[in-house]
Amino acid sequence: MREGKTKIVEEFGDDVILRFKDDITAGDGAKHDVMENKGSICCEVTARMMKYLNENGIYTMFLEYLPPNKLHARKLTMIPLEVIVRFKKAGSFIRRYGGTDGEDLPSPLVEFTYKNDELHDPLMCVEHLEVLGITTRQVACEIIEEARRSAILLKKFFDQNGFELWDIKFEYGLDQNGRVCLGDEISPDTMRLRRSGQIFDKDVYRKDLGNPIEKYEVVLELCRNISL
Ligand code: 5GP
Repeated sequence: MREGKTKIVEEFGDDVILRFKDDITAGDGAKHDVMENKGSICCEVTARMMKYLNENGIYTMFLEYLPPNKLHARKLTMIPLEVIVRFKKAGSFIRRYGGTDGEDLPSPLVEFTYKNDELHDPLMCVEHLEVLGITTRQVACEIIEEARRSAILLKKFFDQNGFELWDIKFEYGLDQNGRVCLGDEISPDTMRLRRSGQIFDKDVYRKDLGNPIEKYEVVLELCRNISL
């Protein structure tokens, strides 16, 4: 069994069971709360988003949703990276490169950060990944293409439902045959999602803008258009 900040992973034969916890964290774990139903909401959103991606030709870990807060998933060897796809400028992009919140980028940008709270998730290029032995250039390039395709598919889904996907974070692993596979989570915790200037993602929590669960529930209702 492995326990992270928001999930518990248990071996299940050749597969795993992911249990989503009610914990919510920000600032590399510096801010932490427990919110009722948060785990089940993020789990169901992940299940439906991954099902949508599977149906559109993306290889994900998702096998089965086990209500309320568990997923049956492929066992992966996770690569310790956060893979961020940005359509608009926000958050750490603005802190690094300037610009204004919500400003369009001319094309979707894929960034890698090293998943390490102590180092505050430093930004990495493909050269870093190779030299530091995190992954090969070939796998990194495959991840860039997969992340871009997945983010564009999700953006299309949200566009059709009147929401703007500003950016999203993915995590990847290798399956037992060494194939790149989308893992972890796709939820309001891992994206910036806006509608008419309103925030429907973890920025509500990061910036103390009210009860994030009410916003997460709106996203869940939207995702229920995707059948399981
Ligand atoms: P930024 O780098 O601008 O802070 O975040 C870019 C996107 O990736 C946002 O949608 C944000 O929610 C997501 N993201 C970045 N780092 C993390 C992280 O450590 N945990 C989670 N859940 N999402 C992250």
